[in-house]
Amino acid sequence: MYTLNQIIVLLLCLVFFNLSYTQNEKDQENKTTVVIDPGHGGLDSGAIGVNGVYEKDIVLNIAMEIIRLNNIMENPMEIYLTRYSDTLISIRNRTELAKKLKADVLLSIHCNASRNPKAEGAEIYIWDGESDFSRASILLAYHLQRVFSKKIGLKSRGVKFANFQVLRGLYEFCPAVLVELGFLSHFDEATFLADKKYSSYIALVIIEILWKYFEK
Ligand SMILES: [Zn+2]
Repeated sequence: MYTLNQIIVLLLCLVFFNLSYTQNEKDQENKTTVVIDPGHGGLDSGAIGVNGVYEKDIVLNIAMEIIRLNNIMENPMEIYLTRYSDTLISIRNRTELAKKLKADVLLSIHCNASRNPKAEGAEIYIWDGESDFSRASILLAYHLQRVFSKKIGLKSRGVKFANFQVLRGLYEFCPAVLVELGFLSHFDEATFLADKKYSSYIALVIIEILWKYFEK
């Protein structure tokens, strides 16, 4: 049998644990969850630059920098990658991960290539259908386009609509945007994208854009 004092202590403990559990749960709910999807990987190199760099490596570098920089911020977002190494993940598994993590947004990162060596600039894609998340995706896409042009100096090729699987797979679930950061077939852009200093800078710009988007 417990004494009255022991029961009071037990009750206080229960209240305390319950409060801290609720607080943790609340903090978790208030966290913004972002899934960054570095395109390609493994056997799929993506585009190959005029300087020999692989798209899969550039986008993974930038994604890893996003994780590193976010983790040293005062109020970091919950950011996950669809891949953390040079491995090929199916598109379906990429979107499934975003669903499982209850992502607030998915940002798929790619680099472009063209037969025309003069083609340059950033393109931002959103799904070409309509859903509850179309407006949010469009807002983020225009924001990305504006800031890439202003802060990175990438020529703006516009926000485009496409039926890409990685975008379509999330149309009922969360906003999803795919960015083509520049052309690996363009000498200056390939040089810029292959430079790790610039990867860090691009990562920082993307974090700033996400912060602004979620108004943190
Ligand atoms: Zn790609």
